Amino acid sequence: MRIDIITLFPEMCEAVMSESIIGRARKNGSLEVNCHQLRDYAFDKHRRVDDAPYGGGMGMLMMAEPIALCYEDICKQAGTRPHFIYMSPQGKTLTQNTLKRLCSYDSVCLLCGHYEGVDERLLEEYIDEEISIGDYVLTGGELPALVLADSLARLVPGVLADDECFKLESHYNGLLEYPQYTRPQVWHGKEVPAVLTSGHHKNIENFRRTESIKRTALKRPELIDKADITDEERAFAQSFIEKNCSV
Ligand code: SAM
Repeated sequence: MRIDIITLFPEMCEAVMSESIIGRARKNGSLEVNCHQLRDYAFDKHRRVDDAPYGGGMGMLMMAEPIALCYEDICKQAGTRPHFIYMSPQGKTLTQNTLKRLCSYDSVCLLCGHYEGVDERLLEEYIDEEISIGDYVLTGGELPALVLADSLARLVPGVLADDECFKLESHYNGLLEYPQYTRPQVWHGKEVPAVLTSGHHKNIENFRRTESIKRTALKRPELIDKADITDEERAFAQSFIEKNCSV
């Protein structure tokens, strides 16, 4: 997958996308990430990309034309028109299901807003969808774009050591992940559940599935309705909620 990020702070995005698992994936070719300085597409000598909003009011607005020029340049470089996403507090909230859907694109381009946001006409003409990382407002779209790029990159084949890694994790199938333990076997008097040291794979699998359902029911009961579980498991979760989550 190719991810392009249009931003006023490419160094900030580059720094985050060069570390750890994502950095390694870029080096081994599983993932391509390009961070573009929007000011390179400004057309005055001061490299301005913002101006005052018509009608007055607080703050500045990002102009349409530099963003359009930058996106068109990315299209030329990529040889395709990447799915164009504006990171915005007005967008649909990012979920694991959004990521599963976005995974089907070979190329996505993320626009990071700043100041008061972006000229509406650019959004109407160019943007395929707006995505928010939650109902609060940040100063810029860089952190949201990095959250999206990181969580999307994990689903790209070859980025994690094994695809099973993300399939077992919280939210992939609508459940939270089971509790996990590492050495030592006893810490502060608390022992690791015996089944995990039994070597009995089927029992371990059953234990983890049950714990996953129990903790989803306890911590996020609203997820149970839509979780990918059997009718029997759902009935178990409901009775667990009734017994343990009384208000
Ligand atoms: N005036 C805009 C509004 O009220 O909808 C908010 C602008 S915000 C200060 C500046 C930029 O930060 C936005 O253009 C967007 O790119 C980004 N941003 C802020 N909060 C965000 C969120 N929750 N999710 C995604 N992007 C966000």
